[in-house]
This record gives sequence, structure tokens and C-alpha cells, in this order.
Amino acid sequence: MGESVKRVIVKMSGEALGGTDGQGINQEVVQGLGKQLIQVRELGIEVGLVVGGGNIFRGVQGSSQGMDPVMADFMGMMATVINGAGVCQIFRAMGIPAVLSTPFAMPQYAEQHSAEKSRTFLAEGKVVVFAGGTGNPFVTTDSGGALRAAEVGADLLIKATKVNGIYDGDPVQNPDAKLFKTVRFNEVLGRGLKVMDAGAIALCEQRNIPIRVLNIFEKNGIVELLKGADIGTLVH
Ligand code: UDP
Repeated sequence: MGESVKRVIVKMSGEALGGTDGQGINQEVVQGLGKQLIQVRELGIEVGLVVGGGNIFRGVQGSSQGMDPVMADFMGMMATVINGAGVCQIFRAMGIPAVLSTPFAMPQYAEQHSAEKSRTFLAEGKVVVFAGGTGNPFVTTDSGGALRAAEVGADLLIKATKVNGIYDGDPVQNPDAKLFKTVRFNEVLGRGLKVMDAGAIALCEQRNIPIRVLNIFEKNGIVELLKGADIGTLVH
């Protein structure tokens, strides 16, 4: 796998950024991720990171309280921007040339996303931290991950989660749930496996971008995967 992958997008949920308790931004978790991304760069692979916001706010929390769902999702997207800014700061302190990119205009603090600019940053060896999801409501950051992967021409999307991959049930509630090693795009959609938004899966299928779901707490999992280890679940 390492030889064929030239550009990768890693999607990390806000919950994973919060570490084991899933709250706030866990500096150790982000530094651990940063160390892996440095090694990914050393393998000659360009890398961008899409961050979620579930550790701070999800749209459903607001809409279930009667908020306008569009504004509630906007709040969720702003939560991802908070995470992105925090991750960038931690990365830069580690010497990683990180760029914060959002679909929103906030020129004092972040680059406004364009596919072309992002491709240039990646080619320059920068780690682009994509925050703000897609910039649109009614989807999650997983859709942002698929969209950014497609836009920058990534040849792999890694979804870093708190579980080991895709199961045929909820592994937290059902200890007998079986882990898939590989699963096809149409199976994910057909069996309603909870991997990503259906639109994100469909886009990856259309653009032929495989998705690898793995556990962010597996030591050096991203690096080992890119060196050729068979880790997590491959959606192809
Ligand atoms: N969100 C959105 N559009 C996007 C990405 C995110 O509206 O393109 C909102 C949505 O309300 C979501 C919240 O931002 O609940 C936080 O993102 P997400 O739940 O995907 O974070 P994660 O689960 O990855 O931490």
C-alpha cells in the first residue's frame, strides 16, 4: 500500500481528539497524531487532516432542543473550527508546517478553502488541517473528509475512530460483533453499516477512493498501515 499512496486524507472525529473521555482537546492525543503525520511525510506521502467537532457540539444537540437545524449545524461546524485551530497550534509547536483551512471567510485566522490552494499546500509539504466540514448543514464531517479527499485527489481516506474498524454490530454494546477486514462500498450502503454518511461513501465510490477505518489509539497505526500493514477495515 505504501508505494501506491501519494496523498492521504485522515479524518479524525472530535471525540477521538478528546482522548478517552471524548471531551475537549487532548494534547497528548494530538501530539501522538502529529508524530505519526511527521512519519507519514517522511515516507514521501502528502497528508491532510479533516477534524470533527463532536467533542464540543453536534447539530443534533441543538436541533433536539428546538434550535433551527441549520444554525445548530453551523454551531457544529464552528466546533470543528475550534478543534482545527487547536490542532494547528499543537502541530506548529511540534515543528509541523500546518495550515488551517475552512470553507468560511475568516481571513485573520485561517485560509479560506479552495481545492487548488489546498493541493498547492500539500505539494509544498504542508499539513492542511481542514475544519468547518463541507461548510454546509445536514451532513457530518465524514462528508467533509470524502469531499476534501476527492477535491485534492487523495488516493486514500483514513477514518481514525475509537474502534478497530467496521463491525456487523455495535462492538461497544455487543462483544460478539464481528470485525470486517474488507467490505465493498455497495455492501456498506446495502447493509446500512454505520461507517460514514451515505453521501460520503457514494462520493468515495464514485471517485474510487478507498477508505480505511482504524483505531486512532492503536500505536502508530496510520504509519504502519501506510508501510503496508493490514490494519482496521478496508472499504473498497
Ligand atoms: N457539520 C455540518 N456540516 C459538515 C460537517 C459538520 O453541519 O459538513 C456539523 C454537524 O452538526 C455535526 C457537527 O458539525 O454534528 C460536528 O461534526 P461531526 O459530528 O461530524 O463531528 P465528529 O463526529 O467527527 O466529531
